[in-house]
Amino acid sequence: MSSHDELRPDARFLTARTMEDFRANIAEVHRRIAAAADRAGRDASEIELLPVSKTVPQERIRLAVEAGCRRFGENKVQEAHRKSEEMADLDLDWAVIGHLQSNKARDVARFAAEFQALDRLKVAAALDRRLQAEGRSLDVWVQVNTSAEDSKFGLPPAELPDFLARLPQFETLRVQGLMTLAVFSSDTDRVRTCFRLLRSLRDRARETDPDLIGPGRLSMGMSGDYELAIEEGSHCVRVGQAIFGKRAVPDSHYWPES
Ligand SMILES: *Cc1c(COP(=O)(O)O)cnc(C)c1O
Repeated sequence: MSSHDELRPDARFLTARTMEDFRANIAEVHRRIAAAADRAGRDASEIELLPVSKTVPQERIRLAVEAGCRRFGENKVQEAHRKSEEMADLDLDWAVIGHLQSNKARDVARFAAEFQALDRLKVAAALDRRLQAEGRSLDVWVQVNTSAEDSKFGLPPAELPDFLARLPQFETLRVQGLMTLAVFSSDTDRVRTCFRLLRSLRDRARETDPDLIGPGRLSMGMSGDYELAIEEGSHCVRVGQAIFGKRAVPDSHYWPES
């Protein structure tokens, strides 16, 4: 089967309403991760599945926790913060994966386990200041715009080397690697090009100064394209709809429309 056939149309994102539904959806995603890793000659154990729970109410997130999830990705800080408080009894990890305004850095510094969308020094500085105050550090991923679309956040690729070179001054930020969103397209070649670009940027950063990129992991791949991302070297796939079901809220609510 070609990777194209492996891509799932949205219509198949069935809403998980019971713990058994979650078990089944998660098992299916893990099966596809393993198959994609296999095709690429990679070890599936080096690939993290990050369930993305944006728009999902806590009742259903709790079912996902029963089905084995301990760590969730959320696009918006306020929503993530609210959920972390609603579910404080569960001791979950929250990864903020969406654009952050520096005036929200304080919230992230308080509850987040990880921030995947770092793309401005102003935000890095605000996070560092707040983290110093909280006496903690934070895993961060630098977001790169690999699709050249205005609708996507992230650094232009050409600005990445300078940006990475400036991050060490922020001692509380622990760089994990790079994150991207590929172009939304059914043309798998165009999608693959985005993922390849992120990987080559990582490789170049490593050659220039390996200390600046930490473990140099790649966060790329969502419900519609995570198998391609794994074939291209992803270490973290951020999967929402294939686990929780199709979202009613349009994606433009989470990133600006082109
Ligand atoms: C929503 C979101 C995802 C997951 O998208 P799905 O289509 O639900 O898998 C991944 N990354 C980011 C940054 C998101 O906002």
